[in-house]
Parts: sequence; structure tokens; C-alpha cells
Amino acid sequence: MIFQDYESEVQSYSRSFPVVFTKAQGCKLFDTEGKEYIDFLAGAGSLNYGHNNPVLKETLIEYIQQDGITHGLDMHTQSKAEFLETFRDLILKPRGLDHKVMFTGPTGANSVEAAMKLARKVTGRHNIVAFTNGFHGCTLGALAATGNQHHRNGAGQALSGVTRLPYDGYLGDNFNTLELFEKMLKDKSSGLDAPAAVIVEIVQGEGGLNTASGEWLQQLSRICQQHGILFIADDIQAGCGRTGSFFSFDIFDIKPDIITLSKSLSGFGLPFAITIFDRKLDIWKPGEHNGTFRGNNHAFITATKALKTYWGDDTFISHIHSRSEQLKQVLNNICDKYPELYRKGRGLMQGISCPSGDVADAITSDCFANKLIIETSGPEGEVVKCFPPLTISEQELAEGLNILEQAFDQFFYQEEPLKKAS
Ligand SMILES: *Cc1c(COP(=O)(O)O)cnc(C)c1O
Repeated sequence: MIFQDYESEVQSYSRSFPVVFTKAQGCKLFDTEGKEYIDFLAGAGSLNYGHNNPVLKETLIEYIQQDGITHGLDMHTQSKAEFLETFRDLILKPRGLDHKVMFTGPTGANSVEAAMKLARKVTGRHNIVAFTNGFHGCTLGALAATGNQHHRNGAGQALSGVTRLPYDGYLGDNFNTLELFEKMLKDKSSGLDAPAAVIVEIVQGEGGLNTASGEWLQQLSRICQQHGILFIADDIQAGCGRTGSFFSFDIFDIKPDIITLSKSLSGFGLPFAITIFDRKLDIWKPGEHNGTFRGNNHAFITATKALKTYWGDDTFISHIHSRSEQLKQVLNNICDKYPELYRKGRGLMQGISCPSGDVADAITSDCFANKLIIETSGPEGEVVKCFPPLTISEQELAEGLNILEQAFDQFFYQEEPLKKAS
């Protein structure tokens, strides 16, 4: 096959799902043999509104038909103005966020790079605190903040400028990891250089669906304020509705100084990233953080339409809440049957922690054989991660979860020896 012969060994997801896909609609993918799959991966969270969302597709086709701008560097375009106005009116203003929007290169990593650079520039400090199991991207700056050894090993050079501290719950339920942080900040010989920022995922997508509690986040936010540290929320994966609100921190009453968004921001799976930050922090010099593809106008068009279609009222939010509840019940049901399993995450980013990565792989392989596309996450790949499009219907979700439940039943009834070994 051409992929084995000519595509680099760096390929990853294709190894779990070794078929050739041709078409996709909603939460369904189709391969060259016409086989239909339910998609619980959703572009790793880039397809929250489903594949080829009809409303977004129609708007984009219309825009292209009229010779609307495709590539605009960072020049002013009508579509960018409409995106900014819509983002201001539907997302920023209702939350009392007086934040400005920076268009970065179109990947999540680029948005993280911009956030880290800006925090360092504003504070004049070099150190950034990141948390265990955090994932922030694979370019060198972002990779320094990423925990995963496998990704870090790809760097080929020292990754610097970041101090790692334990995420909420890292040392068990009875240990408040922020006490360590606070003590280190106050101790003049703790060895912790004064941080420019902390960067944190509210729910850790790649790190295994670990969740930070509201109290922990509020305490982190207070610590940041007391010590002149900027709070960067990396909402690239958990944002755009994934946890049941537009930002994953909406329910916690915190106001991050800097927020990164990408993945589902365009709504259509088009590359698009922004870094938004408190107006006071905007000390960038023109073009200081540059990029050729900062003006993906097709993404502006679909992002604007997605905001207007889904975030103008609470209809979509209550749909996500219902589907999240449905997901939670089925996952709890599976975990009740098999005590070695437990449920993790929240909203439509939940999964099941297995005793090992091998067990999780066996489950996801079985799912794939039964036409469900689902991946794992976590340090050992031990968490089976349910990431359907948020637009999924009750019946489609039930269908996918049925395949998942059968895979667990199959494994834990029939693979006794492997179960005992792990
Ligand atoms: C995916 C992801 C990134 C990196 O985004 P890329 O588009 O892959 O560069 C950064 N942070 C989080 C939380 C992510 O999930």
C-alpha cells in the first residue's frame, strides 16, 4: 500500500484503524469497501459538530461560490470581522471577558506557543509551570510543557523553561497538590524560579481524562493573582462545548488571563487557532509572532456559522448534557460489572480506565472490528476514551456504546487468564 511505502513511520491513528476512508457524515465514517463506522474519535475533538455538518457545509459552499477570500494573511476581511463580532457577542461579552483575540498559525501548538511567549514577554520571567500528564502540543515550546515521554523523546534536544508540578488528584484524593506549589513559591530556596504563567487543561484530554475540581482551579487562580503569575487555560481539546459549556471552565467561576482554542473552533474540521488574552496583556509588536496561515477565511466562515447555530441559546448545551448523562450511565454500568474498571472525565469527554494499556487496546481493537472508531489516552494508553461528535443523536450514541459494552463483556468474560495477569 502507498501508505506503507511512502508515508512516514510517524503516522499514528492510521495504525489503529488500518482501512482507507472515503466519506463522512455526522458521526459516521465510510471506507473504500462501503463499510460504515461510528466515530467516537471525532478528529481528536476537532469535529464537535460532526463530519460535514450540513449547515456549515452549505455556508462554506456558498462563500466559495461567490469567490470569497480563501487566504488572507492577517489582512482585514469581511469574514474575519464577522467572526470577531460573533465571538465577542456570543462568547466573550456574556462571560464578562474583556479579552482580545490573536490569530496564530492554525494549529493548537501554535496557539500554545503564542500564549507562552506572551506570558514571558509580559512578566519578564522565563519559567512556566505545567502539570503532570498535561498535553499542549509538539512544537518545542509547547512540548516543553507536555508531559508525555514518547512525545518528549521526539524533541532531540533539551526541553527547557518549564517546571512540572502535580495536577489535581495526582497524589490521591487526600493530597492538595497546590499546597506544594504555594509552599515552593514562598520558600526562597525551593528552587522554583518565579513563574510567568501556569498552563493547565481543565480536563486532560491526552493525559487520561483527569479532571481538575472547581476548588482546585479557584485556588490555582488565587495563587496566580497573589504571585503575579498569568493563568493560561489550554482549552484546545476540552473547549468548544466538549464538557457541556463553551469553555470547559465556565462552571467554575474563574477568568483565565490567556485562553488557547483550536481543534473544534472552526466547527468544520478546518485548521484554525486563536489565543485570547486580557486586553491589558496585549503588548505584542506588529508581526512579532507571525504566520502565513493566520487568515484561514474558510475557517472564519464555518466558525462564525457554528457559533451562531449552536451558541446563541441553551438548546445545544442541554443536548450535550443529555448525551453526557447517557454516556455516564452506560460507562457506570460497565464499571459496576467489572470492579477493576473506573470511569473518568466529564461531559462528552469521558472514558473507562482499564488495568493496563494492553487491556484498553484489546477493547478498542474489538470495537473497531465491530465498526466503532475509538481511541485510548493516558500515560500507558490505559483509558478508553469516548469522544463522539457533540451533535450525536441519542440513538447513535446508544448504538456506539452498545458496541463498547459488548467489547468489555467479551473481554472480561472470555479472557480470564489475561485479566488475571494484568
Ligand atoms: C491537540 C492539543 C494541542 C495541540 O494541538 P495541535 O493542533 O495538535 O498542535 C494542545 N493542547 C491540547 C490540550 C490539545 O488537546
